[in-house]
Amino acid sequence: MNARESRLGRRSFLKLGALAGAIGATNALGANEAIRPASEAELKEAYPGSLKIKTICTHCSVGCGVIAEVKDGVWLRQEVAQDHPISAGGHCCKGADLIDKYRSTNRLKYPMEKVGGKWKKVEWNAALDKVAGKLKELREAHGPDSVMFLGSAKVSNEQSYYIRKFAAFFGTNNIDHQARI
Ligand code: SF4
Repeated sequence: MNARESRLGRRSFLKLGALAGAIGATNALGANEAIRPASEAELKEAYPGSLKIKTICTHCSVGCGVIAEVKDGVWLRQEVAQDHPISAGGHCCKGADLIDKYRSTNRLKYPMEKVGGKWKKVEWNAALDKVAGKLKELREAHGPDSVMFLGSAKVSNEQSYYIRKFAAFFGTNNIDHQARI
């Protein structure tokens, strides 16, 4: 028994071994139906007719290059953009996970409001009116410095300019960025 086995304890180790064996057996049984070797054509072109769209990672303002493979409006897989002038064929782990965030069932696709303890979908205009109304209320009741605006590492220079301008029109200098670079 090695050091790791002795840490786990003999009984736990045997249980884990049995579980691994069961999983292996299940996989072997299902292999013929669920898994098959890819054909030559599939290896060459897994998604015939798909589009390889050059885009950027939106997780931070570095904007590393990503190739998004899309078919029938569905994002199927991603590659690093080798010829991107900034990232030059590399990106960090957040960028590598870009497609999974896009496909996540937890992804927020529209404004939500918690009403009576339950989340409900809200129309964009209604959400904007509500936020604008609350901001106005706060400014009238407590002055413009009762609010602070935070930027984002995900916004571009131009978007940062708009956020800064908005804070200035609101009447406060309470603004900060959220840069990581
Ligand atoms: S550094 Fe990472 S998070 Fe930022 S753009 Fe590149 S891949 Fe995305």
